[in-house]
Amino acid sequence: MSSKNPEEIGVAARILNGAEIGKQIQEELRQPIAELKHAGITPGLAAVLVGENPGSQIYVRNKIRACEALGLFSERLTPAASITTAALRAEIEALNRRPEIDAILVQLPLPPQVNAHEILEAVDPGKDVDGFHPYNVGLLVANRPGLRPCTPIGVMEILRRAGIELKGARAVVIGRSDIVGKPLALLLMHQHATVTICHSRTRDLPAVARTADILIAAMGRAAFVTPDFVQPGATVIDVGINRIEDAATAERFFANHPQRLEEFRRKGSALVGDVHPDVDAVAGALTPVPGGVGPLTIAMLMSNTVEATRRRRGQALVGAAARAGTAS
Ligand code: NAP
Repeated sequence: MSSKNPEEIGVAARILNGAEIGKQIQEELRQPIAELKHAGITPGLAAVLVGENPGSQIYVRNKIRACEALGLFSERLTPAASITTAALRAEIEALNRRPEIDAILVQLPLPPQVNAHEILEAVDPGKDVDGFHPYNVGLLVANRPGLRPCTPIGVMEILRRAGIELKGARAVVIGRSDIVGKPLALLLMHQHATVTICHSRTRDLPAVARTADILIAAMGRAAFVTPDFVQPGATVIDVGINRIEDAATAERFFANHPQRLEEFRRKGSALVGDVHPDVDAVAGALTPVPGGVGPLTIAMLMSNTVEATRRRRGQALVGAAARAGTAS
């Protein structure tokens, strides 16, 4: 499956441009959104942001902006960090009852006193736009239609649109979280890849990773996946997002990437993935950080919002089409 010959090692990998793919997906959503609007429906997303985690604030702001750019209705709820599980649950249940809200996302992490499982289970599965409710997890396991987590389906879109063959491919997923690694492994398996899931107790991780035609890094460890983890020519998907602010670390990571080092010096920080920048000399294809998987997460959230709306209120679309048919 891998395509790099030994003499091609050192030739830069094909870059899988997630920013461009994310934009394409958002453009493709304009038509179904227009059809819904024609039927009198504006998809509505409610984002619940508890407390004042700066990272979460940025993520939610970007999600709301994406809704606005596509003409979706969006609302941000900002309960205090001190909220109890019962009070937050009541807020979610109120959103479940509101007909104009099609999609509910609860930005993680939640404060320690809140029972996150109870909150995620309180979301109406039909509005569970992050696909975290156990009902939707069950549908994913059974490979039945349902709302799927945004980052994993974003990765699948990158692979699909880049024309990476999954059938029969050996895929290795490093990371087994409920929001990335586990769902992604299931999605890859459903597309007929042979999947190995790795985690912090995996023995000889580089050797297991080297068996991969498609290697996914989703562990939250900056530049951990070095070239010795990668089979020449493999497709490498870097889900990690880590901010580095230490000059010595930047010099180490970017020793062979002077432009990135220059940028770090200018800004005083840089984002790096879980994959070391030098992997670009070994991989056949690679998602960059930033501009790889990140933009897909938002694009797929928009896609899931439209999908949830169609499932909940799609009857009106049929009605509008029928009316258009009788009018002509
Ligand atoms: P997480 O919940 O912390 O899970 C990390 C996983 O990696 C765990 O399964 C852990 O193993 C494994 N792991 C950690 N260190 C390891 C090591 N040294 N060797 C092998 N496995 C190791 O993280 P997450 O929420 O899945 O996120 C993973 C990364 O993706 C983070 O960098 C996060 O910022 C990023 N992320 C990006 C997006 C996006 O939009 N691009 C979205 C979500 C997350 P154990 O289970 O054994 O502990």
